[in-house]
Amino acid sequence: MSAEYRIGHGYDLHRLEPCAPHGSGRPFVLGGVSFEHDRGPVAHSDGDVLMHAVTDAILGAIGAPDIGQLFPDTAPENDGRPSRIFLEEAVRRMHAAGWTIGNMDMTVICERPKLGGRKQEVVANLSHILGVPAADLNLKGKTHERVDAVGEGRAIEAHVVVLLVHKK
Ligand code: MG
Repeated sequence: MSAEYRIGHGYDLHRLEPCAPHGSGRPFVLGGVSFEHDRGPVAHSDGDVLMHAVTDAILGAIGAPDIGQLFPDTAPENDGRPSRIFLEEAVRRMHAAGWTIGNMDMTVICERPKLGGRKQEVVANLSHILGVPAADLNLKGKTHERVDAVGEGRAIEAHVVVLLVHKK
């Protein structure tokens, strides 16, 4: 890698189902922050859609295998596993390869819960895990205008773009 910068893109979607005992949805967690919601992600891990997209963006930028290759959903040890572990591994690989985060822009799309008042909390948590100032991380929340699975509250998705800067 001879370039000074690398760009990475991450995308993820999880189905949202009623939480136990009414369905198979796990407790709703986004960027490592718990939200009150009657639905939650169906997933092998904890189903943190934002953390998965951030992890894949970083892994993509350094040309590493993706999150599903590193942490297969067929592996029993990944069952219900906090996604923070996946992200920490991506950050470890990023530093080992000589890169640091320039900035990151994230978009989460869901009808509910509303991220509004808690965006700063999510950004603060990611800032802590990534070891970069919150000012270099941006989070946008959008709805899907009540159409399709995301708009009907049956799924949540996240898009992330990250810029990596080579360490001098
Ligand atoms: Mg996922």
